[in-house]
Amino acid sequence: MSAATLLRDVFGFDGYRPGQQEIVEAVTTGKNTLAIMPTGGGKSLCFQLPALVRDGVTVVISPLIALMRDQVRGLKEAGVVAGALTSGNTEEETDEVWRNLENGTLKLLYMAPERLASNGAQRMLRQAGVSMIAVDEAHCVSQWGHDFRPDYLRIGDLRRDLDVPLAAFTATADEETRIEIVEKLFDGHAPTIFLQGFDRPNIHLAFAAKDGPRAQIINFANARKEQAGIVYCGTRAKTESLAKALRDARHSACHYHGGMDADDRRNVERRFQQEDGLIVCATIAFGMGIDKPDIRWVAHADLPKSIESYYQEIGRAGRDGAPAETLTLFGPDDIRYRRQQIDEGLAPPERRAADHGRLNALLGLAEALHCRRQNLLSYFGEDPAPCGNCDLCDKPADVFDGTTPVRMALSAALRTEERFGAGHLIDILLGNMTEKVAQRSHDQLPTFGVGKEYSRVQWQAIFRQIMGHDLMRPNAERHGALRMTPKARPILRDEATIDLRRDTIKSAKSGPKIKQ
Ligand code: ADP
Ligand code: ZN
Repeated sequence: MSAATLLRDVFGFDGYRPGQQEIVEAVTTGKNTLAIMPTGGGKSLCFQLPALVRDGVTVVISPLIALMRDQVRGLKEAGVVAGALTSGNTEEETDEVWRNLENGTLKLLYMAPERLASNGAQRMLRQAGVSMIAVDEAHCVSQWGHDFRPDYLRIGDLRRDLDVPLAAFTATADEETRIEIVEKLFDGHAPTIFLQGFDRPNIHLAFAAKDGPRAQIINFANARKEQAGIVYCGTRAKTESLAKALRDARHSACHYHGGMDADDRRNVERRFQQEDGLIVCATIAFGMGIDKPDIRWVAHADLPKSIESYYQEIGRAGRDGAPAETLTLFGPDDIRYRRQQIDEGLAPPERRAADHGRLNALLGLAEALHCRRQNLLSYFGEDPAPCGNCDLCDKPADVFDGTTPVRMALSAALRTEERFGAGHLIDILLGNMTEKVAQRSHDQLPTFGVGKEYSRVQWQAIFRQIMGHDLMRPNAERHGALRMTPKARPILRDEATIDLRRDTIKSAKSGPKIKQ
């Protein structure tokens, strides 16, 4: 199976996180590598995926038994033959590992570094067809670091002995640690080093609620005449209609999607590469093979499906380092469409729940209260200062203490046992005597009619922000129902307050009537 297929089918991800693809490619092709990635950046994928593509067994050295067991469990659930040899094993678990090693089915073998002390283990690894070593938390080899683990010093021997490629991972980026890792794990022979922060400081970030979206995109393009840009659209039909609208507005524009025949697609790719100032309206099918450093802008006519896809798509702009602009539009219909895609997917419930969480993270970015780049990068584990290069740094959002309405919404969910969706909860908050309300006697609830201060569309905007703060997620096992996350508790208990954006709630009142 190809890496792209494995990424989707085994790991269940839409795309790579920043930096992952390059590392996966280097590790898969058997290069010695050292990758320095922020915590939460998705290190494990960078050795797990190559391990599945490569022949033979990958030995993973990791310092934490709990983490190893977690990863093995996750891999097994995804149908991968993986095992761990740790002091926490039951006899059956150890037997199973040996069996799978002998019959050649084992793909990943996790080992605590202490295990390397035994001669038996080294011999066993020599005979087992080990084709790669991956070292998690590689900074543990540093004698001067605070996480020093003496057994990590054995890894160098193991590599020499097995003579296979080694991929080392850490989140500790300082120079000294790096030098020590190269010395101890690679005998001083420089591996390919990946040191990536996630920031792309030259890209300006902006979001806008949909309000005449076609005109919004055309205006954005008008302000960037003769500059190459991509407009990502949620559907194939929209790529065609929007390209036509842009041509009518005297832009050079064409469309691109997976339903076109290969010649037409190649033709668009070639034109985009060669012509100045062509706009391509495209589905996400456009991008993988595009290698154009001077794309000056990327717009989303519809909300992408996750924060990872968002990052990947805007990241196509400004690869040359010169200023580039982005604009992402979002509206209630897109959000509904993305939720539905998740719910109708075939993924198991835990994965669907995680996908709803990732979509929430993107909503959180869309309705961010402060610097978008801070919000985005903190999702990837970084903690930067306000960037000065996003719409919210340009012009701060109008926020207010929204604890009261948020608490009303949460308590409406709680009192109805988290069995209903936003539509019904809003009926309760507004005091609407619908059939469903009457049937279930929800007019008897203390929350019935407490939220009349806001209109229906305003409540929808509030619910959107509640999702953006990840206080509630759609229940993956019960279609349409909203369930609270642990983050909601302190707000319900009056132990925390929460700010909301006034602008997106206010505009919901004057904006076009939204379909139910
Ligand atoms: P760390 O770098 O801290 O070891 P992990 O490998 O545990 O990070 O990954 C952190 C989180 O990111 C996990 O929840 C994982 O499922 C998620 N993740 C990793 N890669 C991707 C991806 N390409 N798309 C979406 N989520 C991802
Ligand atoms: Zn900013």
